[in-house]
Amino acid sequence: MKKMVKKALLSSAITVSLFAGSSAVMAGETQFVSIGTGGVTGVYYPTGGAICRLVNKRRKETGIRCSVESTGGSVFNINAIRAGELDMGVAQSDWQFHAYNGTSKFKKAGKFSDLRAIFSVHAEPVTLVVRADSAIKEFKDIKGKRINVGQPGSGTVATYDVVAKAYGIKRSDLKLASELKAAEMGQALCDNKIDGYMMVVGHPAGLIKETTTTCKAKIADLHGPEIDKLVKDNSYYRYASIPAGMYNGNPEAAKTFGVGATFVTSSKVPEKVIYEVVKAVFDNINDFKKLHPAFKNLKVTEMVSASLSAPVHKGAMKYYKEKGLIK
Ligand code: GLU
Repeated sequence: MKKMVKKALLSSAITVSLFAGSSAVMAGETQFVSIGTGGVTGVYYPTGGAICRLVNKRRKETGIRCSVESTGGSVFNINAIRAGELDMGVAQSDWQFHAYNGTSKFKKAGKFSDLRAIFSVHAEPVTLVVRADSAIKEFKDIKGKRINVGQPGSGTVATYDVVAKAYGIKRSDLKLASELKAAEMGQALCDNKIDGYMMVVGHPAGLIKETTTTCKAKIADLHGPEIDKLVKDNSYYRYASIPAGMYNGNPEAAKTFGVGATFVTSSKVPEKVIYEVVKAVFDNINDFKKLHPAFKNLKVTEMVSASLSAPVHKGAMKYYKEKGLIK
């Protein structure tokens, strides 16, 4: 964070001031804020794009200019917010929970007590896409297969490791455990370089549409006692299904479980910034819902409450209270 401040001051001729340790930068009248997302073919990237679009529509009035960054995903975004390199980010509810509590993957880094929830977005089922000729019907069949487990920094690979552990499957039990980027794995699957890829993602997802129209691919199930135990033991997991016929060659629904995509920030990001971001989205919620098909079923009452394990940021809380969404 400090390094960044120095760099910004040195490299810029305009006077740059920072709000209370946040990376939200004010230059003249304009305040620049950034949102960390995921790969460009996923749903996080368009989610960040939809939020920024609504925020930027009001930039003349608010002075806030929002930009989106494509990143590795949830874990990267949380770490970058913690380091003050990003102001906001999209993150899976399981990793929001662990980051705030300093558990699981975040045990070493310790509690991120400044982590703040803004709102929750779409559901993200744990999705295993496999070649139709691969004989993988459910998760346990991945033993001895070539699987893309998710790219470093993604919530996907972090959740993959949790699921694999629940099944007692080690990386060495796979013929190949690759960590390709989301944008590369569809092609790898259709080129028969991998048998399947895992992705914790909202639906419909651009990359799965692309895979299932380029070659024959199926969505495998994740169900059985291992999954039941995960859902029973962890409040941030819930059963989920991927609708029948959503993707080419997948006429039946896939049974799985999943998390929620959430929008998070740090308590160090100014109240005004988060208030304006939330206002831009919620004052225009019907426009927002039209910006991606995965937002179709969003409900405002759930967005302000479901899957938020970190405290709600004070700027968001101010808006929710004003509108009577939270008492
Ligand atoms: N949930 C995924 C992750 O954190 C990203 C999904 C997306 O890009 O839509 O790795």
